[in-house]
Amino acid sequence: MPFKQVTCSICNKTVNKAQTYFIGNDKRACKEHEGVIAKKESFDASKQRKTIFQQNRQKANADYQAHYYENIFKPKCFVCCVTGIRSQEYYLKVVVNMKKNEMVGTDPFKDIAPKEPPIHIMTKEKCKDILHLVRDIFRPVVDMTNVVALCGRCCMTLKIDPIDVPPKKMFEIGNILRVAMEPIIKQIASQELIRDN
Ligand SMILES: [Zn+2]
Ligand SMILES: [Zn+2]
Repeated sequence: MPFKQVTCSICNKTVNKAQTYFIGNDKRACKEHEGVIAKKESFDASKQRKTIFQQNRQKANADYQAHYYENIFKPKCFVCCVTGIRSQEYYLKVVVNMKKNEMVGTDPFKDIAPKEPPIHIMTKEKCKDILHLVRDIFRPVVDMTNVVALCGRCCMTLKIDPIDVPPKKMFEIGNILRVAMEPIIKQIASQELIRDN
């Protein structure tokens, strides 16, 4: 049986398929031409990124279906459907985790990220460029409330900064909160340490 033949998109010769690489846009080219290997690699990398994105999306969808009733009142991302915790609660947990590290004397930044992702609530106006990505089931909510909920990862991929406060102001607010909430943070941290040990 003859080898499968293809046309090289660079030299236009008919060659054995095995001598070529797929370089995107329905084109193949001989491996030996300049830049073909680099093109193949960048094509493979972008294909892999797409696959990962789709896998994450499928997983989120499956999780969403599987836990629909138990999660019905939990905050969700309107784009990828992942279930998480409100951003305020998320940041509070980070501070508590840092306090716990301080109390047991380990690396202050060890395991401080909560297991569930933060869900940020933002105005519809702020998200106007990505509204077409909102899942159909959440559209009525967006229209009724004028807000969009996005998980941290979607905020990053879609390049939406969930925080509008300038960094300097943020730092001041953070400091005030830390001082004001110190006794509560300490109490939660010690309770969690007792519970987990
Ligand atoms: Zn060629
Ligand atoms: Zn998301």
